[in-house]
Amino acid sequence: MSKFQLISFSFTIRNKSTTKMKHITLFLIFLISFLAISQTQDITTELYDTYETYKEESLNKRRIKHSEIAPLIAKARANPKFKVSKLGSSIEGRSLSLISLGTGDTSVFLWSQMHGDEPTATQAIFDILNFFDSTDFIKEKEAILENLTIHFLPMLNPDGAELFQRRNLLGVDINRDALRLQSPEGQTLKRVRDSLEADFGFNLHDQSTYYNAERTDKPATISYLAPAYNYEKEINEVRGNSMKIIVFMNNILQQYAPGQVGRYNDDFEPRAFGDNIQKWGTSTILIESGGYPNDIEKQEIRKLNYVSILSAIYTIAKENYKDIPITEYDKIPENDRKLFDLKLVGAQYELMGKTYTIDLGINQLEVDYKDHNHFWYSSRVIDQGDLSTYYGYETVDAYGHTIKAAKVYPTTVNSMSAAKDLNTLELLKKGFGYVRMENIPAASLNSPLPLHIIGKAYEVPELLLQPGANPTFFLEKNGVLEYAVINGFLMDLKQEKPTIPNAMIYR
Ligand SMILES: [Zn+2]
Repeated sequence: MSKFQLISFSFTIRNKSTTKMKHITLFLIFLISFLAISQTQDITTELYDTYETYKEESLNKRRIKHSEIAPLIAKARANPKFKVSKLGSSIEGRSLSLISLGTGDTSVFLWSQMHGDEPTATQAIFDILNFFDSTDFIKEKEAILENLTIHFLPMLNPDGAELFQRRNLLGVDINRDALRLQSPEGQTLKRVRDSLEADFGFNLHDQSTYYNAERTDKPATISYLAPAYNYEKEINEVRGNSMKIIVFMNNILQQYAPGQVGRYNDDFEPRAFGDNIQKWGTSTILIESGGYPNDIEKQEIRKLNYVSILSAIYTIAKENYKDIPITEYDKIPENDRKLFDLKLVGAQYELMGKTYTIDLGINQLEVDYKDHNHFWYSSRVIDQGDLSTYYGYETVDAYGHTIKAAKVYPTTVNSMSAAKDLNTLELLKKGFGYVRMENIPAASLNSPLPLHIIGKAYEVPELLLQPGANPTFFLEKNGVLEYAVINGFLMDLKQEKPTIPNAMIYR
C-alpha cells in the first residue's frame, strides 16, 4: 500500500467519525499502523533487492522432482535452526516432510504443489528457508520467530511432480479429496492441519498462464483467493483475516507487476482443501502463480512469491495487517482467461475464392519428453474470428496482410545434419515451411529447424485454418512475405536469423 493510499484512507475514516475523541483515537491507530506498514514496505524493497543472495540455485526450472528437493530437506534436517518431521509418503513412497521454525504462539502453515505440475511456490519455499538460514535481517527474523511458528510442507504431490501432471498416481485431484480423504497426500495434509490448528494457511498453486486480470491485457501473474467456507460466501473473522493478508500482498505486488494480480472466483467447492481449511478455522490464502511475459520457467514469478510471502509472514508477526479494510479485497480485478501466446489481428484469409478478415488466437502448447524433465512445443490455433475481447502476450497487427499457405521445399534432404545446413531464412522468404527428409531419425520427436520436417511420402494437407490446427502460414503484404508463422511462432523475415524453439515432424 502506498503511503498516499494510507493517508487518504485514514482521512476518509476520520471524516466519518462523529466525536473529537473518536477522531484522535482513530488518527492514532492509523498513525501507528501507517508507521508499521511503511516499515514492512521497506523490508519488502530490501527483500526484492537482495533476492539473489537467497535463491536456491539448484532449483531453476518448473519440472522439478522429489529427488531434487530431498537433499535440501536433508540439509534442513541437519541444521539446528530447523525442525524437520517426516509426515508420511505418497502412493509411490516418496516422503512428505514438514520443516518448522520459530517459537511463537501464532502458527502459519504453508503447503505447495498439491498439483504436481505447479512447482513455482515449492522453489520459493526453499528460497525462504535460505533466507531464514542466513545471518541477515536479524531484527526482522527475531520478530518473526518470536511471534510465529512457521511450518512448510513443500511438494505435497511428488508422484504428480515426477510425471509433471496435476493429479496424483491414483489419478485423483487431491484438491477434490478433502472430504473423502482417499489419497495419502490428502490424508497427510488434513492430519497436519488438524494437529497444528494453524492460524494462517498458505495454499500454494500455479494457474494457467492464459489467465489475465479482467478486461486488461495484463497476465494474472499472481491470483489470490480467500476461499469461501459455505455456499453463502459469508465472511467471518477467519476468512476476513485471509482477505486482509491478500490485500496486503496485492499492494506489494502492484509495485513489481502493476495490474498483474487477479482475484479468483470464490464459489464454494465443498470438496476442496482451501475451502475446508478455511471452514476448519485456519485463515486460508490461496496463491496461484500464473504467467509473466518472457518468463517461461516462472523464475520472476518465483521471486514475487518469495517477496510477497515473506512480507506477509512479517506482517502476520507484527500483526499490522489487522487494520486493513476487507472492502479492499473486492477491488482486486477478477481473474479472466482471455490471453493467447500469439494474437494476430485482422489478417486476410482466402477461402474458396472469397476473402475474409479474421483474428487468430494461438497457443504454444508444451509436450513433455519421456523423462518429464524437458519439453517441446506443439502449437495450436485456439480460436479464430472476432477476437477483439482477447489479448496476446505477443500481438501482431495483421491488417493488410494475406495469409499464405507454406510450401514444401522441392529438394529432399538426406539427414538431419543436411537439413541443418540449409539457409532457412532464404527458404522462409520464398514461402517454404516444410522440408522433406529421406531418413528421419526414429528418436526425433520434433524439428530443430524453423521449418517442419516431413517424411518421404507425407502429403501436406491444404491450408484450412480451424481451432486445433497447427498454425503454419505466411503473412504477405504487397507481394512480399513479411512474417512466417511456423508451429505457432512468429518470425519477422526482415530479421537476420529467425529462429523458433522447434517445429514439427510429420512422418
Ligand atoms: Zn493447483
